Amino acid sequence: MKNIVLFGPPGAGKGTQAEILKQKYQLVHISTGDVFRYNIKNATELGTLAKSYMDKGHLVPDTVTIDMLKAEVEKNPQANGFIFDGFPRTAAQAEALSHLMDDMNSQINAMVALEVDDEILVGRLLERGKVSGRADDANEAVIRERIAEYYRKTDILKEYYQNQNKYHGVDGVGSIEDITERLSKVIDKL
Ligand code: ADP
Repeated sequence: MKNIVLFGPPGAGKGTQAEILKQKYQLVHISTGDVFRYNIKNATELGTLAKSYMDKGHLVPDTVTIDMLKAEVEKNPQANGFIFDGFPRTAAQAEALSHLMDDMNSQINAMVALEVDDEILVGRLLERGKVSGRADDANEAVIRERIAEYYRKTDILKEYYQNQNKYHGVDGVGSIEDITERLSKVIDKL
């Protein structure tokens, strides 16, 4: 199994690249943001809860997010491997993911991180907000809060994976194809 954490701040391009990489490497793509948005659209209890955090640019609580992620993984017992997009985002989530992988007699092979400057991120998210219909992309204050939340809670995970020699930073500025190639160079070696 190849299990990859695709990492980076909001707007780094994780979703775009994950869609390409899942085809290329035949992996199951799990985006926690997408699962939350699906639940919001379908007005589930989970969706209502998640929305109250997402609308403010805050993270959804760990227990809720971890239970949801586990359920998504368990829906795919035959998977060749997973691309995790938007998870883990906190130290507790990284620990939970490590245990989940242990239970499957597997492991996270690498964290591949898209590196993009903050001001470029804000610009990209505002552009996306014009077409995506995502409430959290429509408002610059919410965008900046998401980036702040990233530095408060998520950025430390670089160190977590660096300590396991699993961290790979990739320049996230350039054409979609160029960035796919940079990511593929890392993944091909796993
Ligand atoms: P982006 O990375 O562009 O901000 P996502 O679609 O990954 O967008 O996530 C959107 C929102 O969903 C986040 O701002 C957060 O509120 C919530 N969310 C997604 N993944 C997680 C997670 N692992 N833990 C907590 N909240 C999450």
